[in-house]
Amino acid sequence: MGVFEAIGTATHEQVVFGHDPASGLKTIIAIHSTALGPALGGTRFFWYSTEEEALHDVLRLSAGMSLKSAAAGLDLGGGKAVIIGDPGEHKSERLLRAYGRAVDSLGGRYITAEDVGTTTSDMVMIRRETRHVAGLSIEHGGSGDPSPATARGVMAALQPLAERLWGDGELAGRSFAVQGVGKVGMSLVERLTKAGATVIASDVNYSAVAHVQREYGATIVATDEIWDVECDVFSPCAMGGALNEQTIPRLRCQAVVGSANNQLASPEDAERLADRDITYVPDFIANAGGIINIAHETGGYDWQKAAAAVDAIAGTVACVFGVADRDGVNPATAAVRMAEARIETIGGLRTRLSPGGELERC
Ligand code: NAD
Repeated sequence: MGVFEAIGTATHEQVVFGHDPASGLKTIIAIHSTALGPALGGTRFFWYSTEEEALHDVLRLSAGMSLKSAAAGLDLGGGKAVIIGDPGEHKSERLLRAYGRAVDSLGGRYITAEDVGTTTSDMVMIRRETRHVAGLSIEHGGSGDPSPATARGVMAALQPLAERLWGDGELAGRSFAVQGVGKVGMSLVERLTKAGATVIASDVNYSAVAHVQREYGATIVATDEIWDVECDVFSPCAMGGALNEQTIPRLRCQAVVGSANNQLASPEDAERLADRDITYVPDFIANAGGIINIAHETGGYDWQKAAAAVDAIAGTVACVFGVADRDGVNPATAAVRMAEARIETIGGLRTRLSPGGELERC
């Protein structure tokens, strides 16, 4: 598929390609929507097998960010960037600074942050070329690594789920299959075991699984077996597309809640989960803790206020269930409706194109 063909089927405001031959930088920055505010979303540094795959990923991820920020009630739009390459091999000061200049050229329409393959110290380097960076380390005036806040948000999302499925918010004695124990997954496993839950984990990184086994008593399974694990909740915390036509029939859980972006390979997968009576908490609702935390950098970061806002994800999930039940749709459809209603209604205030729609109120 050609570039314009790919963009033509999407609804993005702007897609920018950046290149610095000396450092090997190849980046794509996608601004999906600035209707609610500047497009904020992380930079993914990843070894895509094709440029087409990178473009597809950045388009999907940035659209997801628009929904995520809208559903969380933030005055932020949706954007995302990818850098094509192996972060271990290709990351350099020159490359990060060349990338920072590409971000700067957008004049604040896009604000970057860390994501898979990038770290808070990378953000400090990028900050030397542009002020449009969030999620800096605390000593640099930011809110630090967003991953613990994301894991906290997943825990908050589990409360209304547990109430819905088991009558109370108690997680003790429940079992979780966690796919991917990186920055978020590891923090989630720690929180789950503290809450008295048991964990079965998988990761392609041997030292990560060895750590969760040693520190949290997790049972380890091979990466291609995690979908078959009998558990209460399957928690995708690795890459996107974990839930698809092939994997959903294998699940032996009651619910899916995790941090990964774009967990569903296609929108139909939400219905496949519902058909199997598996309750799905939409990814962009459950994993909003990081962006909520970052949004609190504006006006001086206060951890307690940010944490309280992250915990409010529990109320958003309850609202999603309420809208889903009321409209007779699956939770993913309900969450998209809620987010789109906000973009249309509040975003319309800025563009003066609002048809005057009503916000979903819970
Ligand atoms: P990470 O890179 O630290 O962790 C991802 C982990 O998944 C790594 O340990 C990796 O080895 C593992 N992995 C990769 N492929 C795998 C596979 N096939 N099977 C099992 N494990 C595999 O990234 P992260 O920051 O923890 O993010 C995890 C997911 O959550 C990503 O999808 C990310 O976009 C999403 N997310 C992260 C944040 C955040 O605050 N970091 C916020 C929102 C969403």
